[in-house]
Amino acid sequence: MGILEVKNVSKRFGGLQALGDVNLSVAENTVHAIIGPNGAGKSTLLNCLVGKLIPDTGSVMFDGQSVLGRKPHEINQMGISRVFQTPEIFGDLSVLENVMIPCFAHRDGAFALNAWSAVRRQTGVREQAEAILEDMNMTSARDIHAAALSRGDKRRLEMAMCLVQEPRLLLLDEPTAGMARADTNNTIDLLREIKEKRDITMCIIEHDMHVVFSLAERITVLAQGTPLVEDVPEAIKGHPKVQEAYLGQ
Ligand code: ADP
Ligand code: MG
Repeated sequence: MGILEVKNVSKRFGGLQALGDVNLSVAENTVHAIIGPNGAGKSTLLNCLVGKLIPDTGSVMFDGQSVLGRKPHEINQMGISRVFQTPEIFGDLSVLENVMIPCFAHRDGAFALNAWSAVRRQTGVREQAEAILEDMNMTSARDIHAAALSRGDKRRLEMAMCLVQEPRLLLLDEPTAGMARADTNNTIDLLREIKEKRDITMCIIEHDMHVVFSLAERITVLAQGTPLVEDVPEAIKGHPKVQEAYLGQ
């Protein structure tokens, strides 16, 4: 049994069947990539995992518990964190403060955060945020405004903001979209570094095959809302169905 078990999930938007009958099993402590052409349903699937969308049919189990019917912040508290495509950081707060906020949100279960004073008051938040920054080699940037960070460090901060919540499953939707090759390679290195340091499962939706083949241990190919093949990267590379549906497009 995988840490994430998706069974017979379907999702329709009006007349459009965005997800057909999706089955997916993600093994604990692995990097699992979901690839497929534009419009294949990758983001829709991810949205079903984090509670942003409710599937029409099927089940989504995380560590033996159903995520369906739970609110996004409840799913986050179960141990699933999502990394956004564009860094969602607070530019006018310090790097440390940026990490304290999600730390507090995760502990407190707060959905809407408007009480910065509550963040500062809660015992242990600052220490935990400092520990993550040290782990991510960002201690020297602790007190500077997040807006002043380089693009690469903003991405690093964003990862710290996720990791401070101690997720067991990290979901990434096209983490290198729009990046130049050098930034893409830095992101690959950063994700490898994170994976090496902790017990974490990663599920990456990615268009860039260089990223997929650099990181993934297993790959699911989605086409028109249905999984086409699932296998190890070496097998996916030469798979005729994959060539036809995706690589040759
Ligand atoms: P991918 O991430 O693989 O590119 P998406 O999951 O974003 O694909 O989209 C799958 C299909 O569902 C596409 O045809 C898209 O236009 C459609 N779709 C996605 N979200 C919505 C929505 N909220 N309302 C209507 N159609 C949507
Ligand atoms: Mg998408």
